[in-house]
Amino acid sequence: MNIFVWFMLIATIGSIILLVYAILNHRSERSLFLIFSSICTFLYVVGYLLEITAPTLEAAFAGVRVQKMGTPFLVVFNYLFIRDIYGEKRLNIYKYILLFALPVFNTYTAQAFPLVRLHYTDIEFFFNGYFSNCHGFPGPISYLATLYNFLLVFLSIRRILRHLRSGNKLQRPQSFCLLAAILLPLSVNIYHTLFANHLLVDLNPFAISLSLIPLIYAVKLQKLFDVVPMARDQVIESMSDAFIVCDKDFSFLDANKAAKQLFPELDSLHPGETTLQVKQFERENELSLQIGGEMRFYKITRTPIQQDKRNNGICIVIHDITDKENQLQKLYAKATFDPLMNIYNRATFFDIANFRLTGKEAKNQSYALLMIDLDHFKMVNDTYGHSCGDAVLQTVAALTKSHFRKNDIVGRYGGEEIAVLLEDISAGQAFTISENLRKSIENTVTSYQEKEIKVTVSIGLAHLPAGSGHELEDMLAQADSALYKAKNSGRNRVRLYDYSTANSAG
Ligand code: GH3
Ligand code: MG
Ligand code: MG
Repeated sequence: MNIFVWFMLIATIGSIILLVYAILNHRSERSLFLIFSSICTFLYVVGYLLEITAPTLEAAFAGVRVQKMGTPFLVVFNYLFIRDIYGEKRLNIYKYILLFALPVFNTYTAQAFPLVRLHYTDIEFFFNGYFSNCHGFPGPISYLATLYNFLLVFLSIRRILRHLRSGNKLQRPQSFCLLAAILLPLSVNIYHTLFANHLLVDLNPFAISLSLIPLIYAVKLQKLFDVVPMARDQVIESMSDAFIVCDKDFSFLDANKAAKQLFPELDSLHPGETTLQVKQFERENELSLQIGGEMRFYKITRTPIQQDKRNNGICIVIHDITDKENQLQKLYAKATFDPLMNIYNRATFFDIANFRLTGKEAKNQSYALLMIDLDHFKMVNDTYGHSCGDAVLQTVAALTKSHFRKNDIVGRYGGEEIAVLLEDISAGQAFTISENLRKSIENTVTSYQEKEIKVTVSIGLAHLPAGSGHELEDMLAQADSALYKAKNSGRNRVRLYDYSTANSAG
């Protein structure tokens, strides 16, 4: 064996190593591109090895056919690999078909007569003392394929240069390695096309196998697979946040697993498609979804993807804030409501009532304030126990709350006293409502540990018509005074504060 054969043997082994490495590290579509590219390189190199060691024209041409199974696709896969590394949009199926159409035709026609005539108008077999050479005189497809290869190589180089010019330090060494891996076979190819003597050895397979070195370097040492892109892929893919990448016009590009779980329809979307689902993220900052019978809350953030000072797209992150929201709601409930009666606590009642009575519209509104106190409640506690008293308080509070409109304010004023502020109501209406409540409490039974307890309430009522000043403190005092009168005149009754005597007294 001579030095050329040895060299091609080493190149073949090199391409196998890269192939095995790419397969072992296969984790994404990107490494799939490199796997295919390595298969193509392997076919090219091993095909050439068969060609130069062939004893006959037939055997040498069999080697050429093996080469032709790989070479047409090599630049395509390299181009796709490079696009992917720089985060270009994944192509849709039609673009893939377009990209592979000529290489498939190229490979197919190279396999047998008579179509092979489209490749080579004639084929000659030489043996120069060191190696065999199957020399073909190029036909139309050969020229077309060469042009196509140059076009893809040009696009690949342009993409790498764009990255290098952008000043982005990330992936700079990898970019130089990729550039070397493309420029080396390119320059050899140009030399060979322009000046090669068919008796000389074809330098292209040598160059392509040599280009494996910077490629392996880029992949292995610069961690093209491991750190930068893989970390990005894996972190994004395993994120519990939903992550969606859109074009700047909010057409869909990519989504991680969490996003597809949240919005299953994303799974069937092709890059470039637009749906209302994705469009809604253009403006919304919050989102709530019913998932498995449970309400979940999400915060939406949008980050533009800037490259070369241009807006190339938008990253949308949808972060689940349900736990935080629930905690906040619990805290809010704790600070706002009375835990036993499940109505506003005293402080909240004062806050909201004061806010209403001092609002802009307050002067033009009429208000009524009820002070409700259970009659002889001490006796309930003494007779049935404190926890039974609690149950009674809960019944009365629930009844009172359901008796009023949503807008009315019901709060626990003190131990067994409930205050209610009603808006836009006449004294007569307020009295009737209070009287109905009193009756309904009188007729309600609280069942507690096989005991049945009935209680009554006394209600003191203050009423201020529209146009008068509304001071909460005054109204409370008036309602309290009316309540005192209701208690003194026998309990289980409603008393309206007597404004005439109050005025005459004042
Ligand atoms: P009156 O008709 O004059 O109002 O008589 P009363 O016995 O209801 O007298 P008062 O309103 O002064 O007494 C209120 C009682 O309510 C005293 C207290 O033990 C009881 N109480 C206050 N808060 C609670 C509570 O959260 N649970 C229970 N079980 N009892 C309470
Ligand atoms: Mg009482
Ligand atoms: Mg009391």
